[in-house]
Amino acid sequence: MPADLDQQPQNHSEASHQDISAEDLRMMQQALALAAQAEALGEVPVGAVVVYQGDIIGRGYNRMITDADPSAHAEMVAMREAAAWLKNYRTLDTTLYVTLEPCPMCAGMLVHSRVKRVVFGAYDAKTGAAGSVFNLLQEPRLNHQVELCGGVMAEACATQLSNFFRQRRAAKKALKQAAKIQPSD
Ligand SMILES: [Zn+2]
Repeated sequence: MPADLDQQPQNHSEASHQDISAEDLRMMQQALALAAQAEALGEVPVGAVVVYQGDIIGRGYNRMITDADPSAHAEMVAMREAAAWLKNYRTLDTTLYVTLEPCPMCAGMLVHSRVKRVVFGAYDAKTGAAGSVFNLLQEPRLNHQVELCGGVMAEACATQLSNFFRQRRAAKKALKQAAKIQPSD
């Protein structure tokens, strides 16, 4: 999970790929709505859905704090649900949509799962493992490569994250100031 996402890399253009369908946009909207649920719990707002034959079979949002689980990233939660639905740890012919570029942990899981395609929103210049820092999803030395489409609704996804971090910083600052005003004894 990134520390902060105020800075989106400048070398990526919004929706740089040409092969974005209406379904891609619709599913990314669903992922954004799930990210808002994470935010309501005080979690970093990242959401994900898994789609199989046009249907959503897995939904997830970041719940690391809620579950006290360092692996509870949105992608992990959504893929667990999808694999359970498919009754198969290999999620062949599925597409994962996630509002933020997957981290190395999630990218590793996605390669293991044999997911067919990953569509993500905001780029993560600090820990992104789908092209920004690493490209584990298309690493030729691994035994599975994933079709990749980044930057879909990138601005909306990045704004959701940066608003969250801005509000969190403001809240921390207000707490510090309140502590200064209150005598410590
Ligand atoms: Zn992750």
